[in-house]
Amino acid sequence: MTDFKCEICGKDVDLDLFLKDFKVCPFCSHHYMLDVKTRINLIADTDSFNEIAGNLKSIDFLNFTDTKSYSDRIAECEQKTGISEAIITGSARIGGYNVCLGVMDFSFMGGSMGSVVGEKVKRLADFAVANKFPLILVCTSGGARMQEGIISLMQMAKTVSAINRAKDSGVPYISVISNPTTGGVSASFATAADIIIAEPQALFCFAGPRVVKQTIKKELPPDFGLSERNLKNGQIDMIVNRKDLKKTLIKILKLFSGK
Ligand SMILES: [Zn+2]
Repeated sequence: MTDFKCEICGKDVDLDLFLKDFKVCPFCSHHYMLDVKTRINLIADTDSFNEIAGNLKSIDFLNFTDTKSYSDRIAECEQKTGISEAIITGSARIGGYNVCLGVMDFSFMGGSMGSVVGEKVKRLADFAVANKFPLILVCTSGGARMQEGIISLMQMAKTVSAINRAKDSGVPYISVISNPTTGGVSASFATAADIIIAEPQALFCFAGPRVVKQTIKKELPPDFGLSERNLKNGQIDMIVNRKDLKKTLIKILKLFSGK
């Protein structure tokens, strides 16, 4: 069944094969965005994920309205994505190793970080400390959630403080960068990891290339902010194809376990 045209290479892709390969184009290897559920299935051992702080929900404390009210946006996102926030957190096993796993989803308000995203990261880090589980956060984000004003910016300090407490107590922390990871998330917990893994061609920067180009009024290299350039510049530790992500995480977890 050929019913999907790759938006990067333009080739016709078998949809069943594409979904089976966790949304990677078999021709150009472009890694498409993944929803939380598929990402958990990719990484975690079957049925091992147990959600933590799943009852936390954003509220519209500023009564913020742009073209729509924030409350309506949250309700629409819940309806569309079937999840309650831009990050889902929980305990899980990967290759038999216990971990604390947080997975962001760009389809929920552009993966933006508001107070609930910050609180969930904080509680997950606390859980990791209490149980001595390694912490893994799969990141994708357009930045801070503007509908929460200054409170959304405060989540940068809050998440990094929680992660630093975890690191001080000996909890290893791995971040996995998927396309795109920008703004406040790239400038906080996505970068504060012991090991930073990125998917191929993932954009990982603070301000995106369009904004930087407008600001400095200069042409940027075509690979600005992409994994391959970030690796060369030492911003990330490794680039891992999605099909190899789980086995790479298992190798690292084994290393951290000291066995
Ligand atoms: Zn393609």
